[in-house]
Amino acid sequence: MSVGRCVVLVPAPYQGHITPMLQLGSILQSRGFSIFVAHSEYNSPDPSNHPSFSFIPLPDDVADLDKSFLNSLNVLDAINANCKEPLRDFLVQMMENEKLHGQIACIVYDTIMNFVDEVVNNLQLPSIVMRPNTAAYVRAHHTVFQLLAKNCLPLPESQMEDDVPNLDPFKYKDMPLPLSLEMPERVFDFMKETYEIGSSRAIIWNTIDELEHHHLSMLQQIFHVPFFCLGPFHKMAPPSKTSLLKEDNSCIEWLDKQQPNSVLYVSLGSIVAMDDKEVMETAWGLINSEQPFLWVIRDIFANGAKANAQLPDGFEEIIGERGCLVKWAPQKKVLRHSAVGGFWSHCGWNSILESISEGVPMICRPDFSDQFINSRYVAHVWNMGLELEGPLERGKVEEIVRRLMVDEEGKEVRNRTIDMKHKFQESVEKGGASYQSLNQLTDFISSLSSLISY
Ligand code: UDP
Repeated sequence: MSVGRCVVLVPAPYQGHITPMLQLGSILQSRGFSIFVAHSEYNSPDPSNHPSFSFIPLPDDVADLDKSFLNSLNVLDAINANCKEPLRDFLVQMMENEKLHGQIACIVYDTIMNFVDEVVNNLQLPSIVMRPNTAAYVRAHHTVFQLLAKNCLPLPESQMEDDVPNLDPFKYKDMPLPLSLEMPERVFDFMKETYEIGSSRAIIWNTIDELEHHHLSMLQQIFHVPFFCLGPFHKMAPPSKTSLLKEDNSCIEWLDKQQPNSVLYVSLGSIVAMDDKEVMETAWGLINSEQPFLWVIRDIFANGAKANAQLPDGFEEIIGERGCLVKWAPQKKVLRHSAVGGFWSHCGWNSILESISEGVPMICRPDFSDQFINSRYVAHVWNMGLELEGPLERGKVEEIVRRLMVDEEGKEVRNRTIDMKHKFQESVEKGGASYQSLNQLTDFISSLSSLISY
């Protein structure tokens, strides 16, 4: 029997999930594993960015479904149902052609793709879960389930500012769902499905043990499998492109003309949308702050419309050379650029890891899901950012931009972010925590192949 060296990755079809899974693939490939990526057809990654991986599109039959944010759960349910057979067929084929490909060592899947558990159990293949979020976010799920079991949901609005018992330092308003609102039962069921790890043998985290030691230890009492914290993945992996959208590199030439630490980078990731008023207030705030800025405005940013349409009349003339607008930026390159001094972020976990890794402090404007937990960490626990809360009124944006980019307060926040950047660096270097964890994971995956009986 050949040595088991193939790892099959099953990513979830969203930018913030595909990116860490592909980075994990690059990390594991650097340790000698062959990488197969079995992905839904919807939002499929670009194989040309990873010529040494094998990509296997799984027919998902969701082409005709509404892909708006509000319908995401239906799309995911359909993918989880429709990709089961194609994944099974592919794995069977792999097992039958072992001499050709090498033996499967394990399947690594994003918990959103929970259909994988049934498939691997039937085939008696070992699996590992990859969590692209923080440990605190996973613990917050537990809080929601407890409230649900006690019939306490929805909570009164007045309780949203209260601290969650045993989940220091988070408040009810930071939880993964808006707990003061009525939610369909299916939403809670889905949360449970993504929280559970089925028969998986381990969990791989895109986090750093030092940042989340307490929450990881608490979770270790619930999930009795080894944890491997390899974060930040993008610093552990050789550089690679993972964008689903085309990056506009013209902004790098614009950044080259700016002063060091002078530019505020504004980007809300791949899903968050601003409404018309927010676009307008952000635009006026950026104008009135008098600071240079690079603003990512996706086409479907504002309520499905072209966001440029929501900008104040004459916006581009008013800002002139002081501002740069793009539809999608090469974000990691942008954050690495010496001209960038701040990042207005929706607090997606990848964005936060990328920002800290380059020592760029943040303006935190969370919108949904884990973004509130991430924002609380950044603004209130690690003090690496300022939180922009509540509706955007005239004057508010301008004030926070100046606090971060001009005031003494911003300099202190930047210094703390730079300290953390060094800790991140240490953790991925030889002997560091993430580096050591990768050594352990490599041994662990290799040991799994001895369990496979086909
Ligand atoms: N990103 C990018 N260009 C942009 C905006 C975002 O390359 O203009 C990337 C960013 O580097 C990050 C990912 O998209 O890796 C977004 O993931 P995140 O978890 O921050 O947010 P999500 O999109 O999942 O809400």
